[in-house]
Amino acid sequence: MTAKDLLDALGVPAAAYATGDIAARSPIDGTPIGQVPDAGPQAMADAVERAHAAFTHWRNVPAPRRGELVRLFGEELRAHKSRLAALVTLEAGKISSEGAGEVQEMIDICDFAVGLSRQLYGLTIASERPGHRMMEQWHPLGVVGVISAFNFPVAVWAWNAALALVCGNAVVWKPSEKTPLTALATQALFERALTRFGQDAPAHLCQVVNGRAATGQALVDHPQVALLSATGSTRMGRAVGPRVAARFGRCLLELGGNNAIIVAPSADLDLAVRGIVFGAYGTAGQRCTTTRRVIAHASIHDELVARLERARASLKIGDPRETGVLIGPLVDQAAYDAMQQALAAARTQGGRVTGGERVLGGAQPQAWYAAPALVQMPAQTEVVCHETFAPILYTLRYETLDEAIALQNAVPQGLSSAIFTNDLREAEQFLSARGSDCGIANVNIGTSGAEIGGAFGGEKETGGGRESGSDAWKAYMRRATNTVNYSRELPLAQGVKFDV
Ligand code: NAD
Repeated sequence: MTAKDLLDALGVPAAAYATGDIAARSPIDGTPIGQVPDAGPQAMADAVERAHAAFTHWRNVPAPRRGELVRLFGEELRAHKSRLAALVTLEAGKISSEGAGEVQEMIDICDFAVGLSRQLYGLTIASERPGHRMMEQWHPLGVVGVISAFNFPVAVWAWNAALALVCGNAVVWKPSEKTPLTALATQALFERALTRFGQDAPAHLCQVVNGRAATGQALVDHPQVALLSATGSTRMGRAVGPRVAARFGRCLLELGGNNAIIVAPSADLDLAVRGIVFGAYGTAGQRCTTTRRVIAHASIHDELVARLERARASLKIGDPRETGVLIGPLVDQAAYDAMQQALAAARTQGGRVTGGERVLGGAQPQAWYAAPALVQMPAQTEVVCHETFAPILYTLRYETLDEAIALQNAVPQGLSSAIFTNDLREAEQFLSARGSDCGIANVNIGTSGAEIGGAFGGEKETGGGRESGSDAWKAYMRRATNTVNYSRELPLAQGVKFDV
Protein backbone atom coordinates (compact mmCIF):
# COMPACT_ATOMS: atom_id res chain seq x y z
CA MET A 1 0.00 0.00 0.00
CA THR A 2 1.17 3.55 -0.68
CA ALA A 3 1.37 6.22 2.02
CA LYS A 4 -1.78 7.78 0.53
CA ASP A 5 -3.69 4.48 0.70
CA LEU A 6 -2.66 4.05 4.33
CA LEU A 7 -3.44 7.62 5.32
CA ASP A 8 -6.85 7.40 3.60
CA ALA A 9 -7.63 4.19 5.46
CA LEU A 10 -6.51 5.76 8.74
CA GLY A 11 -8.80 8.75 8.21
CA VAL A 12 -6.28 11.51 7.37
CA PRO A 13 -7.67 13.87 4.70
CA ALA A 14 -5.36 14.36 1.71
CA ALA A 15 -5.37 18.14 2.27
CA ALA A 16 -3.57 17.62 5.60
CA TYR A 17 -0.38 16.49 3.85
CA ALA A 18 -0.64 18.15 0.44
CA THR A 19 1.37 21.35 0.95
CA GLY A 20 3.92 22.85 3.29
CA ASP A 21 7.63 23.31 3.73
CA ILE A 22 8.30 20.08 5.65
CA ALA A 23 8.71 17.23 3.17
CA ALA A 24 8.14 13.73 4.50
CA ARG A 25 10.34 11.21 2.67
CA SER A 26 10.40 7.49 2.99
CA PRO A 27 13.90 6.35 4.01
CA ILE A 28 13.17 3.14 2.06
CA ASP A 29 13.73 4.81 -1.31
CA GLY A 30 13.88 8.53 -0.60
CA THR A 31 10.60 9.32 -2.37
CA PRO A 32 8.42 12.15 -1.07
CA ILE A 33 5.28 10.84 0.62
CA GLY A 34 3.70 14.09 1.74
CA GLN A 35 4.23 17.68 2.80
CA VAL A 36 3.07 19.46 5.91
CA PRO A 37 3.38 23.09 7.00
CA ASP A 38 5.76 24.12 9.77
CA ALA A 39 3.09 25.61 12.04
CA GLY A 40 5.44 28.14 13.63
CA PRO A 41 5.61 29.63 17.14
CA GLN A 42 2.32 31.56 17.08
CA ALA A 43 0.28 28.53 16.03
CA MET A 44 1.96 26.55 18.80
CA ALA A 45 1.11 29.20 21.38
CA ASP A 46 -2.51 29.18 20.19
CA ALA A 47 -2.63 25.39 20.51
CA VAL A 48 -1.33 25.57 24.08
CA GLU A 49 -3.99 28.09 25.02
CA ARG A 50 -6.73 25.89 23.54
CA ALA A 51 -5.25 22.92 25.40
CA HIS A 52 -5.31 24.84 28.65
CA ALA A 53 -9.01 25.57 28.22
CA ALA A 54 -9.58 21.84 27.55
CA PHE A 55 -7.63 20.97 30.70
CA THR A 56 -9.85 23.13 32.93
CA HIS A 57 -12.77 20.95 31.82
CA TRP A 58 -11.03 17.55 31.66
CA ARG A 59 -9.65 17.75 35.22
CA ASN A 60 -13.24 17.57 36.50
CA VAL A 61 -14.05 14.35 34.65
CA PRO A 62 -13.55 11.39 37.04
CA ALA A 63 -10.34 9.51 36.37
CA PRO A 64 -11.99 6.13 35.57
CA ARG A 65 -14.13 7.91 32.98
CA ARG A 66 -10.95 9.46 31.56
CA GLY A 67 -9.62 5.92 31.38
CA GLU A 68 -12.58 5.00 29.18
CA LEU A 69 -11.33 7.42 26.51
CA VAL A 70 -7.92 5.77 26.56
CA ARG A 71 -9.61 2.35 26.38
CA LEU A 72 -11.47 3.42 23.25
CA PHE A 73 -8.24 4.75 21.74
CA GLY A 74 -6.63 1.37 22.44
CA GLU A 75 -9.51 -0.25 20.53
CA GLU A 76 -8.90 2.00 17.54
CA LEU A 77 -5.21 1.10 17.64
CA ARG A 78 -6.06 -2.61 17.72
CA ALA A 79 -8.43 -2.23 14.77
CA HIS A 80 -5.90 -0.26 12.71
CA LYS A 81 -2.67 -1.81 13.96
CA SER A 82 -1.44 -3.20 10.64
CA ARG A 83 -2.07 0.05 8.76
CA LEU A 84 -0.41 2.31 11.31
CA ALA A 85 2.49 -0.14 11.55
CA ALA A 86 2.91 -0.09 7.76
CA LEU A 87 2.99 3.71 7.86
CA VAL A 88 5.67 3.63 10.58
CA THR A 89 7.71 1.31 8.35
CA LEU A 90 7.23 3.62 5.39
CA GLU A 91 8.08 6.84 7.21
CA ALA A 92 10.75 5.69 9.70
CA GLY A 93 12.16 2.72 7.74
CA LYS A 94 11.72 0.05 10.45
CA ILE A 95 11.29 -3.58 9.41
CA SER A 96 7.65 -4.67 9.44
CA SER A 97 7.76 -6.62 12.71
CA GLU A 98 9.31 -3.61 14.47
CA GLY A 99 6.64 -1.31 13.01
CA ALA A 100 4.01 -3.68 14.40
CA GLY A 101 5.89 -3.84 17.70
CA GLU A 102 5.80 -0.07 17.99
CA VAL A 103 2.00 0.02 17.62
CA GLN A 104 1.71 -2.90 20.06
CA GLU A 105 3.56 -0.76 22.62
CA MET A 106 0.92 1.92 22.13
CA ILE A 107 -1.83 -0.65 22.77
CA ASP A 108 -0.01 -1.98 25.83
CA ILE A 109 0.38 1.46 27.40
CA CYS A 110 -3.32 2.17 26.78
CA ASP A 111 -4.20 -1.03 28.68
CA PHE A 112 -1.82 -0.05 31.47
CA ALA A 113 -3.28 3.48 31.67
CA VAL A 114 -6.87 2.20 31.79
CA GLY A 115 -6.03 0.14 34.89
CA LEU A 116 -4.13 3.06 36.32
CA SER A 117 -7.16 5.32 35.98
CA ARG A 118 -8.60 3.50 39.02
CA GLN A 119 -5.32 3.42 40.93
CA LEU A 120 -4.07 7.00 41.25
CA TYR A 121 -3.49 6.34 44.93
CA GLY A 122 -2.39 8.86 47.51
CA LEU A 123 -1.24 8.11 51.07
CA THR A 124 -2.77 8.61 54.46
CA ILE A 125 -0.18 9.81 56.95
CA ALA A 126 -0.14 9.57 60.75
CA SER A 127 -0.58 13.07 62.19
CA GLU A 128 1.34 14.07 65.35
CA ARG A 129 -1.66 16.15 66.48
CA PRO A 130 -4.78 14.67 68.14
CA GLY A 131 -8.00 14.94 66.13
CA HIS A 132 -6.12 15.57 62.90
CA ARG A 133 -5.82 13.58 59.69
CA MET A 134 -3.12 13.95 57.05
CA MET A 135 -3.28 12.71 53.52
CA GLU A 136 -1.78 13.13 50.11
CA GLN A 137 -3.78 13.71 46.95
CA TRP A 138 -2.64 13.68 43.34
CA HIS A 139 -4.21 16.29 41.08
CA PRO A 140 -3.99 16.89 37.33
CA LEU A 141 -1.09 19.10 36.31
CA GLY A 142 -2.23 21.09 33.27
CA VAL A 143 -0.98 21.05 29.69
CA VAL A 144 1.62 18.38 28.93
CA GLY A 145 3.87 19.20 25.96
CA VAL A 146 5.39 16.24 24.14
CA ILE A 147 8.36 16.55 21.78
CA SER A 148 9.24 13.27 20.10
CA ALA A 149 12.08 11.80 18.02
CA PHE A 150 11.89 10.16 14.59
CA ASN A 151 12.91 6.68 15.69
CA PHE A 152 9.80 5.98 17.77
CA PRO A 153 7.50 8.28 15.86
CA VAL A 154 4.27 7.26 17.62
CA ALA A 155 4.99 5.01 20.63
CA VAL A 156 6.80 7.69 22.64
CA TRP A 157 3.85 10.04 22.26
CA ALA A 158 1.51 7.24 23.37
CA TRP A 159 3.59 6.50 26.49
CA ASN A 160 3.15 10.12 27.46
CA ALA A 161 -0.36 10.79 26.24
CA ALA A 162 -2.04 7.68 27.69
CA LEU A 163 -0.75 8.51 31.18
CA ALA A 164 -1.22 12.26 30.82
CA LEU A 165 -4.87 11.81 29.81
CA VAL A 166 -5.90 9.48 32.63
CA CYS A 167 -4.11 11.84 35.00
CA GLY A 168 -6.44 14.62 33.82
CA ASN A 169 -4.17 16.65 31.55
CA ALA A 170 -4.42 18.00 28.01
CA VAL A 171 -1.63 17.16 25.53
CA VAL A 172 0.10 19.14 22.78
CA TRP A 173 2.45 17.10 20.59
CA LYS A 174 5.33 18.37 18.44
CA PRO A 175 6.46 15.29 16.51
CA SER A 176 9.77 14.93 14.70
CA GLU A 177 9.88 16.86 11.45
CA LYS A 178 11.13 13.60 9.89
CA THR A 179 7.91 11.73 10.75
CA PRO A 180 4.93 14.11 10.54
CA LEU A 181 2.56 11.70 8.76
CA THR A 182 2.47 8.98 11.40
CA ALA A 183 1.60 11.76 13.86
CA LEU A 184 -1.33 12.88 11.71
CA ALA A 185 -2.53 9.27 11.46
CA THR A 186 -2.30 8.77 15.23
CA GLN A 187 -4.26 11.96 15.79
CA ALA A 188 -6.96 10.77 13.35
CA LEU A 189 -7.31 7.51 15.32
CA PHE A 190 -7.50 9.45 18.57
CA GLU A 191 -10.28 11.60 17.15
CA ARG A 192 -12.26 8.47 16.26
CA ALA A 193 -12.02 7.45 19.91
CA LEU A 194 -13.12 10.93 20.99
CA THR A 195 -16.21 10.76 18.77
CA ARG A 196 -17.21 7.44 20.32
CA PHE A 197 -16.49 8.72 23.83
CA GLY A 198 -19.18 11.40 23.88
CA GLN A 199 -19.71 14.95 25.06
CA ASP A 200 -17.69 15.11 28.26
CA ALA A 201 -14.36 15.24 26.42
CA PRO A 202 -13.56 18.86 25.59
CA ALA A 203 -12.37 20.03 22.18
CA HIS A 204 -8.58 20.33 21.77
CA LEU A 205 -7.81 17.78 24.47
CA CYS A 206 -5.02 16.30 22.34
CA GLN A 207 -3.48 18.27 19.50
CA VAL A 208 -0.63 17.67 17.10
CA VAL A 209 1.37 20.66 15.86
CA ASN A 210 3.94 19.83 13.19
CA GLY A 211 7.07 21.90 12.86
CA ARG A 212 10.80 22.20 13.31
CA ALA A 213 12.83 23.18 16.36
CA ALA A 214 11.56 26.80 16.50
CA THR A 215 7.98 25.55 16.69
CA GLY A 216 9.05 23.12 19.42
CA GLN A 217 10.72 25.94 21.28
CA ALA A 218 7.41 27.80 21.54
CA LEU A 219 6.07 24.72 23.37
CA VAL A 220 9.16 24.65 25.59
CA ASP A 221 8.81 28.31 26.56
CA HIS A 222 5.05 28.54 27.03
CA PRO A 223 4.20 29.28 30.68
CA GLN A 224 1.01 27.21 30.48
CA VAL A 225 2.94 24.03 29.66
CA ALA A 226 3.20 22.51 33.12
CA LEU A 227 5.25 19.49 32.01
CA LEU A 228 7.45 19.29 28.95
CA SER A 229 8.33 15.72 28.02
CA ALA A 230 11.09 15.78 25.43
CA THR A 231 12.61 12.76 23.70
CA GLY A 232 15.59 13.14 21.40
CA SER A 233 19.30 13.83 21.34
CA THR A 234 21.31 15.08 24.29
CA ARG A 235 21.98 18.20 22.17
CA MET A 236 18.23 18.89 22.10
CA GLY A 237 17.93 18.22 25.85
CA ARG A 238 20.73 20.68 26.58
CA ALA A 239 18.81 23.35 24.68
CA VAL A 240 15.41 22.53 26.15
CA GLY A 241 16.08 21.62 29.80
CA PRO A 242 17.49 24.97 31.00
CA ARG A 243 14.70 26.92 29.25
CA VAL A 244 11.99 24.96 31.04
CA ALA A 245 13.90 25.26 34.33
CA ALA A 246 14.22 29.05 33.83
CA ARG A 247 10.43 29.37 34.01
CA PHE A 248 10.19 26.78 36.83
CA GLY A 249 8.33 24.35 34.59
CA ARG A 250 8.72 20.60 34.91
CA CYS A 251 10.80 18.67 32.43
CA LEU A 252 10.90 14.97 31.64
CA LEU A 253 13.95 14.32 29.46
CA GLU A 254 14.52 11.08 27.52
CA LEU A 255 17.81 11.62 25.69
CA GLY A 256 20.63 9.67 24.09
CA GLY A 257 22.07 6.37 25.28
CA ASN A 258 25.39 4.56 24.91
CA ASN A 259 24.43 1.13 26.10
CA ALA A 260 26.81 -1.70 26.92
CA ILE A 261 26.59 -5.43 27.42
CA ILE A 262 29.14 -7.17 29.63
CA VAL A 263 29.78 -10.78 28.63
CA ALA A 264 31.27 -12.79 31.51
CA PRO A 265 33.26 -16.05 31.27
CA SER A 266 30.26 -18.14 32.37
CA ALA A 267 27.84 -16.55 29.86
CA ASP A 268 25.65 -18.63 27.59
CA LEU A 269 27.21 -17.38 24.37
CA ASP A 270 24.29 -18.49 22.17
CA LEU A 271 22.04 -16.23 24.22
CA ALA A 272 24.57 -13.41 24.32
CA VAL A 273 25.12 -13.44 20.54
CA ARG A 274 21.37 -13.24 19.90
CA GLY A 275 20.92 -10.42 22.42
CA ILE A 276 23.90 -8.45 21.13
CA VAL A 277 23.11 -8.80 17.43
CA PHE A 278 19.49 -7.73 17.84
CA GLY A 279 20.52 -4.96 20.24
CA ALA A 280 23.29 -3.56 18.06
CA TYR A 281 21.88 -3.95 14.57
CA GLY A 282 18.08 -4.12 14.97
CA THR A 283 16.31 -0.92 13.84
CA ALA A 284 19.59 -0.26 11.95
CA GLY A 285 21.12 0.87 15.25
CA GLN A 286 18.58 3.67 15.60
CA ARG A 287 17.16 3.01 19.07
CA CYS A 288 18.03 4.91 22.21
CA THR A 289 18.55 1.47 23.80
CA THR A 290 20.70 0.12 20.92
CA THR A 291 23.70 -1.89 22.14
CA ARG A 292 26.71 0.22 21.20
CA ARG A 293 29.42 -1.47 23.28
CA VAL A 294 30.28 -5.05 24.17
CA ILE A 295 32.67 -5.52 27.07
CA ALA A 296 33.80 -9.15 26.90
CA HIS A 297 35.98 -11.12 29.30
CA ALA A 298 39.42 -11.80 27.81
CA SER A 299 38.85 -15.58 28.07
CA ILE A 300 35.87 -15.53 25.68
CA HIS A 301 36.48 -12.27 23.79
CA ASP A 302 37.92 -13.73 20.58
CA GLU A 303 35.34 -16.50 20.29
CA LEU A 304 32.50 -14.03 20.92
CA VAL A 305 33.83 -11.52 18.39
CA ALA A 306 34.21 -14.26 15.76
CA ARG A 307 30.60 -15.31 16.30
CA LEU A 308 29.37 -11.72 16.21
CA GLU A 309 31.26 -11.16 12.98
CA ARG A 310 29.67 -14.24 11.38
CA ALA A 311 26.22 -13.09 12.47
CA ARG A 312 26.88 -9.51 11.35
CA ALA A 313 27.97 -10.59 7.87
CA SER A 314 24.87 -12.78 7.45
CA LEU A 315 22.26 -10.08 8.18
CA LYS A 316 19.98 -9.35 5.24
CA ILE A 317 19.86 -5.64 4.42
CA GLY A 318 17.19 -4.09 2.23
CA ASP A 319 13.60 -2.96 1.88
CA PRO A 320 12.22 -3.30 5.43
CA ARG A 321 8.88 -4.54 4.08
CA GLU A 322 10.45 -7.65 2.55
CA THR A 323 10.31 -10.95 4.43
CA GLY A 324 13.71 -11.94 5.76
CA VAL A 325 15.16 -8.43 5.77
CA LEU A 326 16.49 -7.56 9.23
CA ILE A 327 18.29 -4.28 8.52
CA GLY A 328 16.40 -1.40 6.92
CA PRO A 329 17.71 1.99 5.88
CA LEU A 330 19.22 4.77 7.94
CA VAL A 331 16.80 7.66 8.26
CA ASP A 332 18.71 10.01 5.93
CA GLN A 333 22.05 10.96 4.47
CA ALA A 334 23.07 12.92 7.57
CA ALA A 335 22.77 9.69 9.58
CA TYR A 336 24.95 7.86 7.04
CA ASP A 337 27.55 10.66 7.07
CA ALA A 338 27.67 10.63 10.87
CA MET A 339 28.24 6.86 10.74
CA GLN A 340 31.15 7.26 8.31
CA GLN A 341 32.69 10.00 10.48
CA ALA A 342 32.49 7.80 13.56
CA LEU A 343 34.08 4.86 11.72
CA ALA A 344 36.91 7.09 10.42
CA ALA A 345 37.51 8.36 13.98
CA ALA A 346 37.45 4.79 15.30
CA ARG A 347 40.15 3.78 12.79
CA THR A 348 42.28 6.75 13.83
CA GLN A 349 41.84 5.74 17.47
CA GLY A 350 43.10 2.21 16.80
CA GLY A 351 39.89 0.39 15.90
CA ARG A 352 39.68 -2.60 13.51
CA VAL A 353 36.52 -2.10 11.44
CA THR A 354 34.50 -4.61 9.47
CA GLY A 355 31.38 -3.50 7.58
CA GLY A 356 29.97 0.00 7.63
CA GLU A 357 30.00 0.57 3.87
CA ARG A 358 27.07 1.90 1.87
CA VAL A 359 25.00 -0.80 0.20
CA LEU A 360 22.18 -0.75 -2.39
CA GLY A 361 23.29 2.74 -3.48
CA GLY A 362 22.93 1.72 -7.14
CA ALA A 363 19.37 0.49 -6.81
CA GLN A 364 18.35 3.19 -4.32
CA PRO A 365 20.41 6.33 -4.95
CA GLN A 366 18.10 8.45 -2.75
CA ALA A 367 18.19 6.04 0.22
CA TRP A 368 20.95 5.33 2.74
CA TYR A 369 21.49 1.68 3.55
CA ALA A 370 24.68 0.71 5.40
CA ALA A 371 26.21 -2.62 6.29
CA PRO A 372 26.30 -2.94 10.08
CA ALA A 373 29.77 -2.36 11.49
CA LEU A 374 31.79 -4.26 14.08
CA VAL A 375 34.74 -2.37 15.53
CA GLN A 376 37.34 -4.00 17.79
CA MET A 377 38.76 -1.20 19.94
CA PRO A 378 42.01 -1.29 21.91
CA ALA A 379 40.44 0.93 24.60
CA GLN A 380 37.32 2.97 25.32
CA THR A 381 38.48 5.99 23.30
CA GLU A 382 36.64 9.23 22.68
CA VAL A 383 34.54 8.02 19.75
CA VAL A 384 33.24 5.09 21.83
CA CYS A 385 31.94 7.52 24.44
CA HIS A 386 29.67 9.24 21.89
CA GLU A 387 26.27 8.05 20.74
CA THR A 388 26.40 7.64 16.95
CA PHE A 389 22.84 6.85 15.87
CA ALA A 390 23.81 4.05 13.47
CA PRO A 391 24.59 0.31 13.52
CA ILE A 392 28.12 0.42 14.95
CA LEU A 393 29.12 -2.03 17.67
CA TYR A 394 32.40 -1.45 19.52
CA THR A 395 34.03 -4.39 21.33
CA LEU A 396 36.34 -4.10 24.32
CA ARG A 397 37.95 -6.71 26.57
CA TYR A 398 38.25 -6.91 30.37
CA GLU A 399 39.99 -8.98 33.05
CA THR A 400 38.00 -8.30 36.24
CA LEU A 401 34.31 -7.55 36.75
CA ASP A 402 35.14 -4.33 38.62
CA GLU A 403 37.05 -3.17 35.54
CA ALA A 404 34.13 -4.12 33.25
CA ILE A 405 31.61 -2.23 35.39
CA ALA A 406 33.92 0.79 35.53
CA LEU A 407 34.16 0.78 31.71
CA GLN A 408 30.42 0.35 31.36
CA ASN A 409 29.81 3.36 33.62
CA ALA A 410 32.60 5.57 32.21
CA VAL A 411 30.49 7.21 29.49
CA PRO A 412 28.38 10.35 29.84
CA GLN A 413 25.11 8.54 29.09
CA GLY A 414 23.22 6.21 31.45
CA LEU A 415 20.22 4.60 29.76
CA SER A 416 20.37 0.80 29.35
CA SER A 417 22.85 -1.91 30.29
CA ALA A 418 23.12 -5.67 30.59
CA ILE A 419 25.31 -8.51 31.75
CA PHE A 420 25.34 -12.05 30.37
CA THR A 421 26.52 -14.36 33.13
CA ASN A 422 25.53 -17.55 34.89
CA ASP A 423 27.34 -16.50 38.04
CA LEU A 424 24.84 -15.28 40.65
CA ARG A 425 27.44 -13.16 42.45
CA GLU A 426 28.37 -11.33 39.26
CA ALA A 427 24.74 -10.76 38.31
CA GLU A 428 23.85 -9.35 41.73
CA GLN A 429 26.93 -7.12 41.84
CA PHE A 430 25.99 -5.72 38.44
CA LEU A 431 22.48 -4.90 39.69
CA SER A 432 23.67 -3.51 43.04
CA ALA A 433 24.46 0.06 44.06
CA ARG A 434 28.09 -0.48 43.02
CA GLY A 435 27.06 -1.98 39.67
CA SER A 436 25.53 -0.44 36.58
CA ASP A 437 24.72 3.28 36.90
CA CYS A 438 21.98 3.12 34.24
CA GLY A 439 18.21 3.52 34.52
CA ILE A 440 17.84 0.04 33.03
CA ALA A 441 20.06 -2.89 34.06
CA ASN A 442 19.36 -6.41 32.81
CA VAL A 443 20.68 -9.92 33.32
CA ASN A 444 20.81 -12.37 30.40
CA ILE A 445 18.73 -10.21 28.12
CA GLY A 446 20.07 -7.38 25.97
CA THR A 447 19.79 -3.62 26.29
CA SER A 448 17.40 -2.97 23.45
CA GLY A 449 13.72 -2.33 23.99
CA ALA A 450 11.71 -2.51 27.18
CA GLU A 451 8.30 -3.59 28.41
CA ILE A 452 5.87 -0.81 29.23
CA GLY A 453 5.28 -2.16 32.77
CA GLY A 454 8.60 -0.77 34.06
CA ALA A 455 9.64 2.85 34.40
CA PHE A 456 11.66 3.77 31.32
CA GLY A 457 14.54 6.25 31.23
CA GLY A 458 18.13 6.86 32.19
CA GLU A 459 20.63 8.82 34.21
CA LYS A 460 23.36 11.39 33.48
CA GLU A 461 23.17 12.80 29.93
CA THR A 462 20.17 10.58 29.21
CA GLY A 463 18.27 13.21 31.19
CA GLY A 464 16.92 11.49 34.32
CA GLY A 465 13.29 11.25 33.13
CA ARG A 466 11.08 8.21 33.67
CA GLU A 467 7.99 7.42 31.66
CA SER A 468 5.69 4.49 30.92
CA GLY A 469 5.10 2.00 33.76
CA SER A 470 5.66 1.62 37.53
CA ASP A 471 4.91 4.96 39.25
CA ALA A 472 6.02 7.12 36.32
CA TRP A 473 2.46 8.53 36.31
CA LYS A 474 3.41 10.74 39.26
CA ALA A 475 5.37 12.99 36.88
CA TYR A 476 2.07 13.88 35.20
CA MET A 477 0.32 14.99 38.39
CA ARG A 478 0.88 17.43 41.21
CA ARG A 479 0.96 16.29 44.82
CA ALA A 480 -1.04 18.10 47.48
CA THR A 481 -0.50 17.37 51.17
CA ASN A 482 -3.69 17.95 53.17
CA THR A 483 -4.22 18.21 56.93
CA VAL A 484 -7.77 18.10 58.29
CA ASN A 485 -8.56 19.10 61.89
CA TYR A 486 -11.72 17.44 63.19
CA SER A 487 -11.12 18.39 66.85
CA ARG A 488 -12.19 21.49 68.81
CA GLU A 489 -8.54 22.47 69.52
CA LEU A 490 -5.90 24.08 67.34
CA PRO A 491 -2.60 22.50 68.45
CA LEU A 492 0.40 23.75 66.52
CA ALA A 493 2.94 21.42 65.00
CA GLN A 494 6.14 20.60 66.90
CA GLY A 495 4.45 21.75 70.16
CA VAL A 496 4.85 25.44 69.30
CA LYS A 497 2.99 27.78 71.71
CA PHE A 498 1.39 30.88 70.20
CA ASP A 499 -1.47 31.80 72.54
CA VAL A 500 -3.65 34.74 71.45
P1 NAD B 1 16.61 15.24 17.72
O1 NAD B 1 17.17 15.72 19.00
O2 NAD B 1 17.26 15.70 16.45
O3 NAD B 1 15.06 15.68 17.60
C1 NAD B 1 14.11 15.25 18.54
C2 NAD B 1 12.97 16.24 18.59
O4 NAD B 1 13.41 17.46 19.20
C3 NAD B 1 12.41 16.65 17.23
O5 NAD B 1 11.01 16.71 17.32
C4 NAD B 1 13.00 18.03 17.01
O6 NAD B 1 12.25 18.85 16.16
C5 NAD B 1 13.01 18.57 18.43
N1 NAD B 1 13.97 19.65 18.71
C6 NAD B 1 15.27 19.71 18.35
N2 NAD B 1 15.83 20.83 18.86
C7 NAD B 1 14.87 21.47 19.56
C8 NAD B 1 14.83 22.70 20.30
N3 NAD B 1 15.91 23.47 20.44
N4 NAD B 1 13.66 23.05 20.89
C9 NAD B 1 12.56 22.28 20.76
N5 NAD B 1 12.54 21.14 20.05
C10 NAD B 1 13.68 20.73 19.46
O7 NAD B 1 16.57 13.63 17.78
P2 NAD B 1 16.25 12.57 16.64
O8 NAD B 1 17.37 12.51 15.66
O9 NAD B 1 14.87 12.74 16.14
O10 NAD B 1 16.23 11.20 17.51
C11 NAD B 1 17.37 10.50 17.85
C12 NAD B 1 17.81 10.81 19.27
O11 NAD B 1 16.73 10.61 20.18
C13 NAD B 1 18.91 9.86 19.75
O12 NAD B 1 19.85 10.61 20.49
C14 NAD B 1 18.17 8.88 20.65
O13 NAD B 1 18.98 8.25 21.61
C15 NAD B 1 17.15 9.77 21.26
N6 NAD B 1 16.02 9.01 21.77
C16 NAD B 1 15.92 8.84 23.12
C17 NAD B 1 14.88 8.07 23.64
C18 NAD B 1 14.76 7.85 25.12
O14 NAD B 1 13.69 7.42 25.55
N7 NAD B 1 15.78 8.10 25.92
C19 NAD B 1 13.93 7.51 22.79
C20 NAD B 1 14.05 7.72 21.42
C21 NAD B 1 15.11 8.48 20.93
